[in-house]
Amino acid sequence: MSVTNQVTETIAAVSTAMTNSGIGIVRISGNEALDVLSAMFRPAKKERKVKEIESHTVTYGHIYDGDTMIDEVLVIYMKGPHSYTAEDTVEIDCHGGVLVVKRVLETALKNGARPAEAGEFTKRAFLNGRLDLSQAEAVMELIDSKNEYARKNSLKQLKGSVSEKIGALRKTIIYEIAYIESALDDPEHISLDGYGDHLFDVVKKVKDEIDGLAASADNGRLLSEGIKTVILGKPNAGKSSVLNLLLGEERAIVTDVAGTTRDTLEEHLNLNGISLNLMDTAGIRNTEDIVEKIGVERALNHAEDADLILYVVDSSVALTAEDETIMDMIKDKQAIILLNKSDLAPVVDGAYLEERTKKQVISFSATREFGLSELSDAISGLFFSGSLAFNDEVYITGARQKNAFLKASDSLRQVLSSIEAGMPEDFYSIDLTDAYEALGSITGESVGEDLINEIFSKFCMGK
Ligand code: GDP
Repeated sequence: MSVTNQVTETIAAVSTAMTNSGIGIVRISGNEALDVLSAMFRPAKKERKVKEIESHTVTYGHIYDGDTMIDEVLVIYMKGPHSYTAEDTVEIDCHGGVLVVKRVLETALKNGARPAEAGEFTKRAFLNGRLDLSQAEAVMELIDSKNEYARKNSLKQLKGSVSEKIGALRKTIIYEIAYIESALDDPEHISLDGYGDHLFDVVKKVKDEIDGLAASADNGRLLSEGIKTVILGKPNAGKSSVLNLLLGEERAIVTDVAGTTRDTLEEHLNLNGISLNLMDTAGIRNTEDIVEKIGVERALNHAEDADLILYVVDSSVALTAEDETIMDMIKDKQAIILLNKSDLAPVVDGAYLEERTKKQVISFSATREFGLSELSDAISGLFFSGSLAFNDEVYITGARQKNAFLKASDSLRQVLSSIEAGMPEDFYSIDLTDAYEALGSITGESVGEDLINEIFSKFCMGK
């Protein structure tokens, strides 16, 4: 999609965070970027003319509002299409005081630019064909990424990994649509004999790939947002100690008195690159203590919608009915059992726990600090097929992309049923076209203006 000629207004915004810092950047984009600049910038070398500044060079000088000097700056000019927006773009590096950047921006607005809307620079990059929609979304995710995996994944998507996949899948589909249409138009020369079998194989393969991509959305979410993890276990099993060890600092209060971790605490941590959002729990036990009871209920609620349960067992004391309750509860969940206090004489049999729950049991000691690397391996085994070096894989992030894949998959499922039911060929091409369009919506090939506006409105100002 290229509508460069429709975008003429020149926009400006502060593109760095609005706090006092070393430098702040005001960005101006549009046909008149250089005109706006020339009305407010005086190069230190007086013989230099702003309008003659070469593309991709840096010029030193001062910003003036009329005759009032505002700041000492460096100016970078990037002539379109070789810029982020694919339009003429100017970046003014000023001193990073909030007041300074605001004054520089105001001066740009006085001189003919209008304030950019949230995400408008990236939206222009999209409208000008520099980025497709999946890449634009990747920009936002890159900025928001909270860990290395999220950063790598969004960067890959930005470089076009998703777009390439979509392009290849759409090409396969459109080829079949075209074949069906041609055969229907020209039955004398193009035969559809046995075509159903061929199409079935092709569609099945494309559908499997799409299903895989849709399923990867959940991993993508876990990678970028973190695995919602709940620690369960009887009082005194060592839950707080495990939490402290994972966090690497004394955050929760550890005591010898059973049931002292009364409230639920949420903590975010990185375990060998895996993000966990951890909730400590009050432990599971029957108690008359009201505060403790509220804590237990909350812990159970959290466990309900947790991605992962870490069940901490005190290996130095015999299992009780409470342990049996927890084991029943984690049966259908992703869970790992930490056989804690393994530095002490063992009373609990790890093999029994494993047999009873079919979950991985890790010999662990929160105080002696062993079992951590086994734990991170176990988590990556549960969630990322054991491989966190997911270099070749494309992870889909975001519900919008996932839904589009599901929609495409559904249309293809329809094609498979039609073939099996021996329906006429024109039925196939209707559903194939739906799948083709659903895939196109991911990269923005077939989306309406409303959706585009909605997507870009989620961007931060200045991006
Ligand atoms: P919680 O009630 O489940 O949160 O248990 P705590 O973390 O408060 O631990 C209860 C007691 O067990 C404390 O005295 C801890 O120091 C001790 N403890 C925790 N983990 C271990 C361990 O791996 N080995 C030993 N020997 N003691 C531990």
